[in-house]
Amino acid sequence: MRVALVYNHQPQTLAVAQKLEHELLASGIKINADQPNVVISIGGDGTLLSAFHRYLPLIDDVRFIGVHTGHLGFYTDWRDFELAELVKALKQRQPETVSYPLLEVRVKEDHRVRYYTALNEASIKGGYKTLEAEVDIKGQFFENFRGDGLCVSTPTGSTAYSKSLGGAVIHPTLKALQMTEIASLNNRLFRTLSAPVVIPPDQWITLKPKARPDLLLVVDGHRVRHRQISELDFSISKHMIHFDRFKYTHFWNRVRDSFLGQDS
Ligand code: NAD
Repeated sequence: MRVALVYNHQPQTLAVAQKLEHELLASGIKINADQPNVVISIGGDGTLLSAFHRYLPLIDDVRFIGVHTGHLGFYTDWRDFELAELVKALKQRQPETVSYPLLEVRVKEDHRVRYYTALNEASIKGGYKTLEAEVDIKGQFFENFRGDGLCVSTPTGSTAYSKSLGGAVIHPTLKALQMTEIASLNNRLFRTLSAPVVIPPDQWITLKPKARPDLLLVVDGHRVRHRQISELDFSISKHMIHFDRFKYTHFWNRVRDSFLGQDS
């Protein structure tokens, strides 16, 4: 087993990372940041997102474990005081994983095509101007969108930005993508569905934005720069993210704890 540790630089997290590294080495587990088969993120959901993007080239061969040093996250199951139990589980138990769908974004510029993979979502915004885009679903015209932007999320991303946009919370084992609107314009001239759309694995969403150099494409909270986007395709990736299942919080309990609190 080769373990990579990814952590943020908050003092509390650094202390946990140091302790975990010590416990892993003491139990004979190798630390290998270049070719790991287990990636442990220490911090919050943002740290797990960074770990995911860092190890994306190895996505089929690694399993992720999230240790949270703040409040319970959506990608982080272990508490910082459970490190000994975590190391013991790694050492003694057969790997058991749960896998969740990822989003693939294909971005067409004039002369090139680029691909991105998202764990949470990708959104396209018009910057300070209205985004105007034709929306097609599975190659068929669906609507002309005008508004601030559109967001396409994975099931695990449905509790993140997508939820703030009025999207449904989707169980992460469902293979689906959800498109939500960001402040759409609806009046006598312009009309959008004004509701989230959920598509199955054999479908994809194409956006054909009115070309402008200042369109904003954000993947998992990070801006990716393009000169002139002519088309974007959003589909379910053929890759999935694998999480270790040594410790597993029931999804709806996690949703309840995060958004409703213990006493509701
Ligand atoms: P960040 O890392 O500061 O995260 C913002 C919050 O989103 C944190 O509380 C984090 O725990 C939570 N979060 C992240 N992924 C989640 C998930 N799958 N389910 C539930 N909560 C989740 O922000 P950032 O680095 O700018 O972006 C990271 C992610 O945070 C983005 O992918 C986006 O989904 C989310 N985000 C949400 C909003 C919003 O809801 N208005 C705004 C910004 C970012």
